[in-house]
Amino acid sequence: LMELTKKLLEIQTILKAVRQSDTEGDDESPHSSALQLPSIVVIGSQSSGKSSVLEAIVGQEFLPKGSNMVTRRPIELTLINTPEATEEYGEFPQLGLGRIDDFRHIQRTLHDLNMAVPETECVSDKPIELRIYSPHVPDLRLVDLPGYIQVVNRKQPPVLRQKIRDLCEGYLRQPNIILAVCAADVDLANSEALKASRRNDPMGTRTIGVITKVDMAEPDMAVHMLTQNDYPLHLGYIGVVCKPVKEKAGRTSHEILLSESQYFNRHAEFQQPGLQVGVGTLRRKLVRVLEESMRRSLSSLVDAVRSELEETKYQIKVQYNDERVSPESYMAESLDALKQRFKAFQMQFGKPQLRAEVQRWLESRVMDVCAELYWSNPAIGDLGNHVTRSRAAGWWADIRTKSAQAAAAAANVVSELLAADTAKEQKGPQLSKVAGAEASTKLSDGTSGTKSKGGSNGGQAASEWTDEDDVYWDHQLDRASALLTKSGVGRWTTQMVVDLLMNNVTTMVDTEPFVHHPETREMVLSFSQAILRNKYHSTVDQVENTIKPFKYEVEVEQHEWAKAQKRSGALVDNEIRMCRQALTKLRSSTPRKQLQQAMQFVAMSNKRGLDPVAVQVEVARRHAEQNATTSSEQAPKPETDSATQNSESDGGSLDDMAYAQYSPRLLRRAQQVLMIQDRLSILHLRRKALASSACSAVENKRFCPEIFLDVVAEKLAYNAVMFINFELLQDFFFQFPRELDANLYYGKSLQQTRDFASQNPRIGKQLVLLERRQRLELVMSRLNDLVRQQAAAESTNSNG
Ligand code: GDP
Repeated sequence: LMELTKKLLEIQTILKAVRQSDTEGDDESPHSSALQLPSIVVIGSQSSGKSSVLEAIVGQEFLPKGSNMVTRRPIELTLINTPEATEEYGEFPQLGLGRIDDFRHIQRTLHDLNMAVPETECVSDKPIELRIYSPHVPDLRLVDLPGYIQVVNRKQPPVLRQKIRDLCEGYLRQPNIILAVCAADVDLANSEALKASRRNDPMGTRTIGVITKVDMAEPDMAVHMLTQNDYPLHLGYIGVVCKPVKEKAGRTSHEILLSESQYFNRHAEFQQPGLQVGVGTLRRKLVRVLEESMRRSLSSLVDAVRSELEETKYQIKVQYNDERVSPESYMAESLDALKQRFKAFQMQFGKPQLRAEVQRWLESRVMDVCAELYWSNPAIGDLGNHVTRSRAAGWWADIRTKSAQAAAAAANVVSELLAADTAKEQKGPQLSKVAGAEASTKLSDGTSGTKSKGGSNGGQAASEWTDEDDVYWDHQLDRASALLTKSGVGRWTTQMVVDLLMNNVTTMVDTEPFVHHPETREMVLSFSQAILRNKYHSTVDQVENTIKPFKYEVEVEQHEWAKAQKRSGALVDNEIRMCRQALTKLRSSTPRKQLQQAMQFVAMSNKRGLDPVAVQVEVARRHAEQNATTSSEQAPKPETDSATQNSESDGGSLDDMAYAQYSPRLLRRAQQVLMIQDRLSILHLRRKALASSACSAVENKRFCPEIFLDVVAEKLAYNAVMFINFELLQDFFFQFPRELDANLYYGKSLQQTRDFASQNPRIGKQLVLLERRQRLELVMSRLNDLVRQQAAAESTNSNG
């Protein structure tokens, strides 16, 4: 029948795991669950000999000693009888240290675990679990509690006293057995252990009294304590001696050391029938009482486990619809999801899409180059007029744009104004602006490239076309082509594809289930980056190599030209649309009249080559000065200088304008509107030129630079894409899934897989429930076996 306790102790270990995963994270008391089996709880005041009794039961010295509150946490001690074994050892299952053969090591560990609780907190209700395996111990479960009694005596603050008391009372509840330790040299009336027992077990049905230090009392007094009925306990009192006793040998004066049994044998008083003495008797009693208590608890435990199991199954059904999940399956599914997404991306992003992206980027570069070299060129009117054979467009020379910077600024104004809208329209790297900025810095340190005979003769009709013109515009075309081919196409296109791939990978890991797995997300991003980084430089070089010939000469076939002519028209149309949108946006945010006046003011300032803001500041200063000096006398005519003379017929005088006090913001707006209007008029001119029959022929490429540059862009795109696709894209598509497997799937420990799954709160909870069910099912089947064995044993007993 010894087996019952052993088996139930094993079951208790599993139930303990169930309880622990239930209370993980919160501070629920460990006594709340019905899934409990009885333990023997040892209580006694300081120096009552409590530790000595426990050590005598185990047969080993292993408890920490000292007067400085050495027990600050409950010690849950499970003794496991190992009849076959020769060694004795201990184990702290919470620490995972494995078996410890040296009991002094166990003692030190217990000491450290207790001392880890700060003195200010006094005690902690987190139990220390200790298991001792030995052929010399019975199967028992004992709990050593912090000596709350000793603390009370030391006049601790009441809060702490209450804390210790609550901790102990929790353990003293049903169905636990109380082992009340009292020293023989202390009056039982003063025993704190008996007082605590009476509070929790008033009928004395589950308390065993232990009288220690029996040798310290006269034998007849000790026997009286063991047999008294003043403090009746149903399970009785047991007297023990846990220390060798020094006694005089007979009538001689020298002393001898007596063992416990020798001591009890020596004194006839202890031979009285029915008297319970000795550690051996105590042990046997504990085993019997615990086993009986276990047997009594069996059926209620079976009921409790059954209902817990039902409840758990119900939860699984209600919350998770009985769906099966394991850490491994979750991990595999998550990876699969990522691979599927990657596959989908791979399917929809191939060479044609890559080509479209690169081409889009190059086209924006073409527009930038045109703006730099042509649309800012005052002679652009001549170029347009020549192919459209129109002489009526003399208005061109009146255009206020004076420099390349102004034209570039206009492009920037448009793109800035529309930035918010374009960001919404097209997701992807916005490189054209950056590239544009780079182009303008490159240009500004070169020759400004303005044609001397253009713009300067403003207001005149276009002059005759000469050979000199041909040379000039051919040269411009070469420069434009060089700007396009030598602007770092390799670096820009490669970087654009890298950004695009990284953006897509980021999107893939920024959704379920990876939002729950930040480390995994980082890991995917970092290996993706590593693959791309590895290939970056070789790709850039390859692309640059392949486009090298175009840096010197680009040959154009007529059919290529025809296609490019169409595309160029569309591109310029698109630019026109963007300019109009920008204008609408500007106008809608400013009152019309104000804007018009400000525009007139800015236009006049520009015409004189002056900064409108500076003019306004200067005029305002003079105005103030004049008011101050002429407050009493007649106002003299303002002095004339470059800023104020020459009032034009097309507007009021600068003075009048300045008094209107335009805000810098308004002036900036006015300036922007003027710039965009300039750009628009040029774009219309170019649109007309592009549609002309002259621009249908390759031979006229000097008149139609947009088309020529588009052909160049087309060729660059074709060649760049060929290498980027092979070097970078296909390589990435090949390596990504492999890296994914290598980093996430292979070589993961069970614990890592479990941790991964638990990061997802929904899966984590589900796994906890499934594990709970599994454990409860195991407990249930073991309990059923036990109940069957019990029934069989009882029937043979009654038969025999
Ligand atoms: P605890 O504070 O209740 O754990 O008590 P201990 O087990 O540490 O014992 C307190 C003191 O009593 C120690 O000095 C022990 O050596 C001594 N002691 C324990 N048991 C006996 C005993 O049976 N007889 C005698 N004479 N001394 C004992």
